[in-house]
Amino acid sequence: MNSNPTSFPRRKFFQTGLALGAAGLAASAARISAQEKAPLKGRPVAISSANGLRATDKAMELIKSGADTLDAAIAGVNIVEEDPNDMSVGYGGLPNERGVVELDACVMHGPTYRAGAVAALQNIKTPSKVAKEIMERTNHLLMVGAGALEFAKLVGFKEENLLTEPAREAWLKWRSNLNKEDNWLGDDDRHAGFFERPTGTINCCTFNEKGDLSGCTSTSGLAFKIPGRVGDSPIIGAGLYVDNAVGACGSTGFGEAVILSSGSRTVVENMRHGMKPETAILDVLRRICEQTVAKRLLRARGKPKFDVNFYAINKAGEYAGGAIYKGGKYAVHDGTKNLLRDSVYVHDDAK
Ligand code: ASP
Repeated sequence: MNSNPTSFPRRKFFQTGLALGAAGLAASAARISAQEKAPLKGRPVAISSANGLRATDKAMELIKSGADTLDAAIAGVNIVEEDPNDMSVGYGGLPNERGVVELDACVMHGPTYRAGAVAALQNIKTPSKVAKEIMERTNHLLMVGAGALEFAKLVGFKEENLLTEPAREAWLKWRSNLNKEDNWLGDDDRHAGFFERPTGTINCCTFNEKGDLSGCTSTSGLAFKIPGRVGDSPIIGAGLYVDNAVGACGSTGFGEAVILSSGSRTVVENMRHGMKPETAILDVLRRICEQTVAKRLLRARGKPKFDVNFYAINKAGEYAGGAIYKGGKYAVHDGTKNLLRDSVYVHDDAK
């Protein structure tokens, strides 16, 4: 993540339609360079959301022992999926509005350009492993709900109750305070409920010394969602995209905005057209801000009420994390150190 955005040819920069004013460009260039660190080219990389330090550690251990990049990413994500204390992923995840945990996940394997995904899956702790089974054992890519559960059981997964006591209590508190806090929009958009819910997801993307890339994203989705709601996490191109010739990107945060922007795929396409990871991410985050016009999603001064995070690696092993709002972090293991780093951002504050 060493790129200097000013090294991106100026004419091309404007041709890409980023439409930044000169002042905005200078300000964001200063902000980016202040946040960037030296490059670590040629080294393996495991990058993850801020809840993924244990994931990047595990993934790097496996990459160094010669494991496949996808197996490494999934093994990292499994630690968080199985952890009851992470209430945004897998076992212990916050449930839907009826108190039922529904999980989404996807995987993408760079070297073979294959992917698998599962959505609205109940009773299985590790949806990322189910996604990999779908990729390896079927002609399908995405399976959902009852059919996905039936498939998972047929290939050997055990059904378990995923609702932990803290998650049940959190749901009960939400349920007993219901008034406008549901997801149904009324006739008047402005008065429809959009409340900040506890959010979280894990994404982990991996890069090895051979230059292979893979990624995995897993979540319990938006807390207290309408049953059947699916976010960006299991959608290839939204919550994850890997192109072994270019780079990989995953996302966490408000999934509807990530789906609408084809977020991770667009970040990878930006990298294909020459942008470094942080510039590629900031471009998509700015577009999300510009294209968010529904009043229920906006703060008083027109900034989004939600946040979105992207985590990207390019084919040179350069990486970055980015969020709409300042203060975001991401986990990265660069082959030597495993650290939480500051994400680049679009807005200094959420006012
Ligand atoms: N992206 C997830 C979703 O929309 C939630 C999150 O990351 O907080 O389902």
